[in-house]
Amino acid sequence: MNLGSELGGDGRLPEVWADAARAGREAGFDAMKVYPLSPVRALEGTGPIREAEKLVGAVREAAGGDADIMVDLHGRTTPAMGIQVGRALAPHQLLFLEEPCQPGDVDAIVEVARAIPIPIATGERLATRNEFHELIDKRACAVVQPNACYCGISELRRIAGMAETSFIAVAPHNPNGLIGTMVSIHLALALPNFLILEQVRDDVPWRGEIVDEYPEAKGGYVDPPTRPGIGVELIEEVAAAHPGHSPPPHLANAPDGALLDW
Ligand SMILES: [Mg+2]
Repeated sequence: MNLGSELGGDGRLPEVWADAARAGREAGFDAMKVYPLSPVRALEGTGPIREAEKLVGAVREAAGGDADIMVDLHGRTTPAMGIQVGRALAPHQLLFLEEPCQPGDVDAIVEVARAIPIPIATGERLATRNEFHELIDKRACAVVQPNACYCGISELRRIAGMAETSFIAVAPHNPNGLIGTMVSIHLALALPNFLILEQVRDDVPWRGEIVDEYPEAKGGYVDPPTRPGIGVELIEEVAAAHPGHSPPPHLANAPDGALLDW
C-alpha cells in the first residue's frame, strides 16, 4: 500500500522542496504530493507556471525517477489555466494532476482531461454516489478521491464500485487524523481499484500520540491491521488535551487585491 506524503508550507524554494523530497524517501515513502502553483487568476502569464515547473523539477530530481509525484491544483485554476499548467508539468511524468478546476462543472474537467497527457484525479469535495455519477459516467477523470469522513464507509465503497466499472481508480482523500487514516487503510484493502492513500505527517507534533498503535509505512506500504474494528484505540486523555479549533480561513489576493481561490 502506498502512502503519499505532502510537501508545502511557506518555503517555495526548489532546494527546500528537494530536501523535503529526499527526507520523504529516507522515511520510506515512494510517493509524494505537491502544491506547486500559487493562487492564480483566471489566466496568468508565465510567472506562476515557471515557478511550478521549477518546484516540481526539483522534487523529481531529488525523489528519483522511480518516485510517484502527484500535483494538486486544489481547484484554484480555471480549465484554461489548468491546461496550461498540465502541459508545462507533463515532462515530469506525474502520477496524476489533481483538481485542475472546481468540481461543479464535469464538462470542464473533461475539457482538461482530454487536453493534457496527465491522468486527472478529483472528487474530494463530493460526498455521495449521485455527485460522483456524472464524473464517472463521462470518464472525466482517471482517479476518484472520495473522503471516508465525508462519504462514510459504505458510500465510499459504492462510489469505488461505480468507478471500477469505468476503469477509474480510487485514491481516498485523506487529510484526516489517524483514525480516519485507519478507516481508509481498511477500505484500501477491500477495494480492487484502490490506487494510493495520502496522509498528513507533520501538521501537529502530537499527531501520532492520540492512538495506542499505528502502522509504520515501509517502502511506501503498510501491513494490514490485525486488531478488531478500526484497529486502534483512541487515547482520550491526549485527545482531550487538544480540543478542536477552527483555524482562520485561508485567503489569497491578486496584486490588485482581488480575492483568489486559495
Ligand atoms: Mg486535494
